Amino acid sequence: MKIICIGQNYLEHVKELQAKVPEEPVFFCKPDTALLIRNRPFYVPDFTKEPNYETELVLRVCKVGKNIDPKFARDYYDAYTLGFDFTARDLQRTCREEGLPWEICKSFDNSAAIGEFISKEKFPQGPQGLHFELKKNGRVCQSGDTADMIFPVDRLISHVSRFLTLRTGDYIFTGTPPGIGKIEIGDLLEASLEGIPVLRCAIK
Ligand code: MG
Repeated sequence: MKIICIGQNYLEHVKELQAKVPEEPVFFCKPDTALLIRNRPFYVPDFTKEPNYETELVLRVCKVGKNIDPKFARDYYDAYTLGFDFTARDLQRTCREEGLPWEICKSFDNSAAIGEFISKEKFPQGPQGLHFELKKNGRVCQSGDTADMIFPVDRLISHVSRFLTLRTGDYIFTGTPPGIGKIEIGDLLEASLEGIPVLRCAIK
């Protein structure tokens, strides 16, 4: 199983990162040891002073595929949830500045929290018509609409599968909307997809 994460897929988030708008989807991977499931708490690792949340729509891959045409992309995932792409922002800054790989800032243990999956059939509006929200300690911190993605889901699947074979059980994080921010010990993160609570995570 692998976790594929799309970066810089919402314009307003690209702006808050002061990054360049990508011409092609940007992605990186997290190993299976990054997975955090069943609403387990996230323990802030000792190597970062700036742990951040990023709330993202996550797809569950249901079929093996390579070089997938965008028009068939919908056959390759069967459910959605939300996930937290936990990021060590201070380390990421160094990695970016020095052109180093991102594993230490993005792929560490428990850095990919995922919620409960809901069948895509429950959302007839399709993958670009979904609204999602993050509350931190009861206050809305991120509010995203998948219609605002720079690259839609079909395009992401097509692009990623040119390089990596998708397999049943893989997960695809589709990028964060704006509003990323710090987490601190004692915080509670709660994310809802189309008003349905799917993921909560206590920060310890
Ligand atoms: Mg992200």
